[in-house]
Formats: sequence, structure tokens, C-alpha cells
Amino acid sequence: NDPSIPPPDKQTIDALKKYFGHAHFRPMQWKIVRSILKERRDNCCIMATGYGKSLCYQFPSVYTGGTTVVISPLISLMEDQVLGLHVANIPACFLGSAQKDKADVMRNLMRGVYRVVYITPEYAAGGAGESVLKDLDKKIGITLIAIDEAHCVSQWGHDFRSSYRTLGKIRDMLPDVPIMAVTATATPEVKSDICQSLGLRNPQITMTSFDRQNLFLEVLGKSNIQHDLKSLMKETSRRFYYEFDGPTIVYCPTRKETENVGQALKGMGVKCEIYHAGLSNEKRKEVHHRFIRDELQCIVATVAFGMGIDKHDVRRIIHYGAPKDIESYYQEIGRAGRDGMNSSCHVFYSPKDFITNRYFLNDITSERFRQHKAQMISKMEKYLATTKCRRRMILSHFDKNCKSSVSGTSQCCDNCVEKLRAASRAGLSTHVLTTAQMNQDTLVDYSKEAQLMLNAVKMTEERFGLGVPVMLLIGSTNQKLPNNCYKMKIYGNGRHRSEKWWKAFARVLKQEDMLAESKAGGYGNSKFSYMLTVLSTKGRNWLNKSLMSDGKAVEFK
Ligand code: ADP
Repeated sequence: NDPSIPPPDKQTIDALKKYFGHAHFRPMQWKIVRSILKERRDNCCIMATGYGKSLCYQFPSVYTGGTTVVISPLISLMEDQVLGLHVANIPACFLGSAQKDKADVMRNLMRGVYRVVYITPEYAAGGAGESVLKDLDKKIGITLIAIDEAHCVSQWGHDFRSSYRTLGKIRDMLPDVPIMAVTATATPEVKSDICQSLGLRNPQITMTSFDRQNLFLEVLGKSNIQHDLKSLMKETSRRFYYEFDGPTIVYCPTRKETENVGQALKGMGVKCEIYHAGLSNEKRKEVHHRFIRDELQCIVATVAFGMGIDKHDVRRIIHYGAPKDIESYYQEIGRAGRDGMNSSCHVFYSPKDFITNRYFLNDITSERFRQHKAQMISKMEKYLATTKCRRRMILSHFDKNCKSSVSGTSQCCDNCVEKLRAASRAGLSTHVLTTAQMNQDTLVDYSKEAQLMLNAVKMTEERFGLGVPVMLLIGSTNQKLPNNCYKMKIYGNGRHRSEKWWKAFARVLKQEDMLAESKAGGYGNSKFSYMLTVLSTKGRNWLNKSLMSDGKAVEFK
């Protein structure tokens, strides 16, 4: 709690209990609510999912008997919120072209009946909406204008919507009404863009920690849908029947893939449905409601299943295929564990997934924006390939000075778990490991494996992708392995690890700039080009040094 801010008085707490059923404000909530009630100040609130954003903009008008206008991008989300407010005996409505009983609603609105009014950004910035807002302010005075999902204002964010861009004119239209921009995800760039484009005046900026401590993060290689997903499920008493251990969302990059995954899961006996923008509104609503009522265990969806998911006990978010970028990913996994209970987030990916993601970059005409998007994609690639703490990597994307108390523990991510295991194998008690020790990458020494991998690439004359060098290491008898490989000294020397492990390890070596890719083929009339795995200069130098030292481990950093 901020000692410079006086605590709420009894009357305020009574209203909080009466209308919202909470005994206390969360510290940031009170700071924001107070600044509206006492100072009519503009606010930019960046709050992790589940912190309680809606209370911040709903409370002021409920308390004073005024009207708050909330601009929100999704009609279904607004309908849910209006329903929730009605249940709490707070008069609220949705205003827009799709709304019924228009005349009645309008009359009540101008008489100040509603405490909270929801509108879409299109309506707010359109001619009809403009005159309604002006009229409303003249007649009863608007307490506050809240702009939900405010990151949609910014081109530098992950979910830019052009209708949000025009919301800047609200400030000119209603100069004396405080504006509150709210979002769960904003980098420092996006935050400045929000404040600037909405014309916020000396806004109070509030940022909760981005750290969702109840989410465990994991990244896995993608092979076969059934096989991959089975690893996250348990077998039920019926033979061949599987289930997730809680409500689950599986995100896929395309509609086609949702169908493939949906079919595979149904084949395993999982109660699931698919969800994407190609389905009718009714169908989508039905699927959403069945999921909320736990009639479905799992939804297999594209990112169209996003904002407005009103389910607090989602236990798993699985991305089957690489997510688009870190910000979207953070937003998507934010839908897990909103009730605060432990939940987990898994990505199954193959490096090939990025080919499609990169392909769409060609459609962007602005060079600066294209570069920005390309950077966002590479950051995601780095996240997937990293051997360091994944939580810290995501958090530092939003806040350079981030701290997480779960980093380095078994509740954090797969890499931290791996480090704990390695430390325990090395005889260190996991209990005495401090965060500082966890961050020493020397705890896991993979130099022997790095030497084997680089040597396999060298011995096969850098003429192949990853398949052949890896087959050589694991001592494969696959026909694709050239005959001369069987006689090589390193044939089978990497048998102690799986094919999947070696491929994942090679990707790490690429990230560390020890291995590189070189394009081959595509000559003459041939359309087909492919990627060879080759040694980088750094990798070549390191390998020579490590071979000279007679196989003894050499640090490659
Ligand atoms: P967000 O929009 O930030 O994701 P919500 O507004 O949906 O979060 O709130 C998340 C949950 O936190 C809801 O169940 C809400 O009832 C609860 N909540 C909000 N404020 C408080 C509070 N002051 N005390 C206890 N619970 C709260």
C-alpha cells in the first residue's frame, strides 16, 4: 500500500461490499479509484489479467450515482459484463446498432438511470455515438470514460484495431471528462503510444507486475498430434480414452489445423469442439457457453477465441504450432488460471512454423513497421529455443527490470526444472540452490554434446539438413544415412540421447551462433530450395579448439 494515499473511508468500503462483495480494494485499485473520485485525473492502467480492472472503472460511478461509459471491442464481452452488473443490482446497458429497445434505453440513459454504459469504438467515434455522448455529458455529466483493451490503439502492439485510432477525438469532444485507458499487455512503447494517441493529460500510470506466478511454462517439439497431446493427458478408466486434467484451450495457427487437432482429440475420446472465425456467430456462442458450463473439456481454436472468455478456471493453454509473437502469447496464456490456481502453458512447435509467420511480413508496406514485426517474430523464436528461464524472458520483454520470485524453481518453467534436475544429479541439494546459482549456465555442461553435434555436421561435410548428422549420432540404420557414415568413429556416439533431443539441441546451437543455415538448391528452373546445416565461424573455431584439447570440455560462450 502506498503510504502517501489516504485509505478509503467506511462509506466507500460499505459501497464496495454492497455492490461488489469485496471487503477491501486491491492496492492499485484504490489508487486509481481515488484519483478519479478526488482529482478527476486521467489514468493509464496496465494490469495483469485477473487483477480486477473492471472494478477500477465501474466503482466510481456506482459510488457517486453517475454514469461511466466503457468502450470495449467485443459485443459478447459487453453482454457478459452487463449481465454481471445486473446480477449485482447495478443498472447497466449496452448501446449500439445491435441493441434492442433503443428508445427506452436512450430515455433511461439521459435520465441518468445507468451506472455503466458499454459502447463499441466504432459507435463512440461515429456521428451518432458522438452526439449521444455530448448530449449525455450536457444532461447528466459523464463520470468517466474507460477505454478497455487500450493496447489496440497502438500499431506497435500485437492487436492493432483501426477503430481505436479514432478514439483520440473523445478528448477534444469532452475535454473535462477523465479518461481511463486499461489493458493487460503493454510494452513501454505501446504505453506511450496509448497516452499520446488518446490525448491523456498528465495521466496517473499504474502497472502491476506482469508475473503470473501460478503459470508454469513449457516448450516441446512437435511430431504427431495424438502422440504430443497424449503426453499432457491422463488415461481414463475406459481403454483408449484420454482427458486433460482441467478445462483446456488448444490454440492452432490455422483453421485447418484446428480441424486436424479437433479430430485427433475426439478420436481419443476428449469432449471438445473447434472455434474459429469461419463458424457462425450462433455456433461460436454455443461452443463458448458449453465450455463455460464445463460441458466441453477443451476448445481447439484459432486466436479468434480470445478477448471475452469468461472462464476463470482454465487449467491449460496449449499452442499447437508456434505462437505469433511474445505479446500475443502473453495475452493468450493470460487466459489460464485467472482464479489464481496453478495452471500450465505448453507450446508444441517445429522451426518450420516460422516460415508462414515470416511469409506474411512481405505484405507489410512500411519498412519500419515490417522490421518491428520481424523483430517480434524473432523474439518468439528465441523464447522457444532458449535454455534459460522462460518466465524471465517474457517478463523482460515488458519490463527490463523485472523480477520474479518463481524464477529458478520447479513452479517456473521447463528450463528451470531441467536445471534443478541437473543440479540434483550433480549432488547439490535443490533446497540450497539460490537464484544466483540457478542462473549460472555452467551448471549444465553440454560441451561434450556440442562437440558431438558439430563434429557430426563436419564429418558429413555440411551437405545435409539436420536429419543426417543426427542419424549418424544416434547410430540409425535408416536408408537415408549415406553408407560411409557407418564406418565413422562417431557413428552411434550420441545414442544416450533421443533423435528429438539432438534436433532440439541443434536449434539451441543455432541460437548460440555455433551452427548456421545455408540455402541450397533452387537453381535453374528448379523451384525447390532447402536449408543445409553448416558450422558458423564461431562453431568451427570452437570445435577445432575442443578437439585439440582431446575431448575435454571447453566452455563455448
Ligand atoms: P481482469 O479484467 O483484470 O482480468 P476481473 O475484473 O475479471 O479482472 O477480476 C478478476 C477477479 O478478481 C474477479 O473474480 C473479481 O471478482 C476479483 N476481484 C476484483 N477486485 C477484487 C477485490 N478488491 N477483492 C477481491 N476480489 C476481487
